[in-house]
Formats: sequence, structure tokens, C-alpha cells
Amino acid sequence: MPEPNYTVELSPPDIEPYRSGNTGVEYVTTFDSGVAGPHVLVTALTHGNEICGAIALDRLFRAALRPRQGKLTLAFDNVAAYHSFDRRVPAASRFIDEDFNRLWAPATLDGPRQSTELARARALRPVVDAADFLLDIHSMQYSTAPLMLAGTLDRSVALARRVGIPELIMCDAGHAAGPRMRDYGGFGDPASTKTALLIESGQHWERRAAEVATDVMLRFLITFGSLTRDDAEALAGPDFDTRPRQRVIEVTEAITIGGDNFEFVQDFRGLEVLTPKGTLIGRDNGREVRTPYDDCVLIMPSRRLAKGQTAVRLGRYIA
Ligand SMILES: [Zn+2]
Repeated sequence: MPEPNYTVELSPPDIEPYRSGNTGVEYVTTFDSGVAGPHVLVTALTHGNEICGAIALDRLFRAALRPRQGKLTLAFDNVAAYHSFDRRVPAASRFIDEDFNRLWAPATLDGPRQSTELARARALRPVVDAADFLLDIHSMQYSTAPLMLAGTLDRSVALARRVGIPELIMCDAGHAAGPRMRDYGGFGDPASTKTALLIESGQHWERRAAEVATDVMLRFLITFGSLTRDDAEALAGPDFDTRPRQRVIEVTEAITIGGDNFEFVQDFRGLEVLTPKGTLIGRDNGREVRTPYDDCVLIMPSRRLAKGQTAVRLGRYIA
């Protein structure tokens, strides 16, 4: 398959000014309004090459906005990977040793294993524990419409609707390789009120991804009364006030790679709707992988086709 050659339109901001922070954890800063209200956490660089989130946080810091109520914590996650970013090989800095966003099972965090990402996840764990609401900012390999990943809980979908953008909300259970930060602890617990969203803002290096990341972050903060509409005005993009009719895609399964050689039969980019049922998607060590139902939506087909990883997720529009 031809590799799409995306121009790196975004520049990674200097996050050194945020290293010391004020929480005892590097690159984590908490602003306390002194007024009762929710503790909102916004995170960037869960994947080190997804720089749109760092741009959104940098803009928020530079604007010197402070929460009107409750607390606001801003965190840069996989800083080690981010610091290895090289625009000549921009995909190489997703992580150092392993995917930071597959480590969020208590057994993994409490276990004996060591890695650059595990050390960072362990350091950040109390920060995630302390938050009532989490927005984790990401971007994607292919240039498709932005996706809000709402997990499997109804309250997360409701929150995605209150935020109001983007148009597409995806309900998904994550990956066989391990739980994501957005699914950790209370955020994945039906009995909790803690609620998390993950925004896939667009292609990793397109200018538009930074705009989407910033707008989603601002609208998330307005939703909780952390900021007012007027506070957000100066940072907002041209589409800030759009109110799209939001649609929900329910993910029914993740295709996890079982063999050493997985290949797609077409150059899928994501959000293709395949019909009829039984359409061939790819081959896993020669075994055919076909769509299980009509109008099957392909979600975020991966170019990292390694055994045990997710090749693609399958879903359908439910609203
Ligand atoms: Zn990501």
C-alpha cells in the first residue's frame, strides 16, 4: 500500500516552561479557583507524536486563563517520547518503549514491570485519580473527520453531546492490548460519576487538528464552568460556534492481529462504510477478515500492523 505523505504543518511547541509545574509531578500544573466546582483534567501527548494537544495546552497557558470555579489541571503525558520528535520521521515518536495508553490496568500499574511509559503512568496516576472529568487530546494517522471516543458508558456520550463537537461520537471498549487512560478507575466504572472523553482531532500534523483540539478543549472547559464563552473567545477557531447534528457510531469489535503478517486488501483510511455483510477487509496470516454485517464502518485502520495490536475497529451508526 502507498504510504500517504502528509506534510508536517504543525510545529511542536516548547514545553520546557511547563516542566516544573506546581504539583510535584513534572509537566503537570493545577490551577485552583478557590471556588467549589469540579476538578477538570486536560491531557496532551499521551502519544508523543500527537502534537496538536501540546499546541492546545500551550495556547491555554499563554492566554493565562484561570478556572472560574473548581480546579483545572493541565498535563503533558509522554514527554520523553515528545522530546524525541523529529519532523523528518514524525511517526517515530509515538512512544519510547511501549504505548502509554495501554497500561491503565491496576495490575499493570501495580506490577513489577518497568518501562519509560510505565514510570510516567505511575507518576501521573494520582493526577488522574484526583480528577472528576478528563479530556485526553489525540490525533490520527489518516486525515479523516475528527472523532470523539466516548467509551462504553452513557454518561460519556451525554458529555460528548454537551460539548457539542465534533460531529462523530464513537462508543468503544478500547483495545485488547490494554486499557487506555480514559477507561481507568472511575472513568470506566458504571457506578462512578467521573467522566472521560478522548478526542481524535484529525491527522497528526495537519493545521486543522490543532484548531479542533483547541476548540474541543475550550468547549469542554465551558461545559464545566471552568471558562466562560468570553474567556474562550480569543483562542477559539473560526468554527467554534458550530452546532453539528452529532452522530454516534457504536463499535462492535476490534480486529486484533493474531498472526505475523496482516494486510488490508484496500488502502482504507477510516470511516468507509462497507456493504454488504461479508465484504473482505484484510488477511491475517492468510485468514480472511470480513465485515460481520451490512453498512459496517471502518474506524481508524492502523499502519502499525503488529501481532497483538488493533488493526481496525468495526462499528455502525446507531444515532
Ligand atoms: Zn493517540
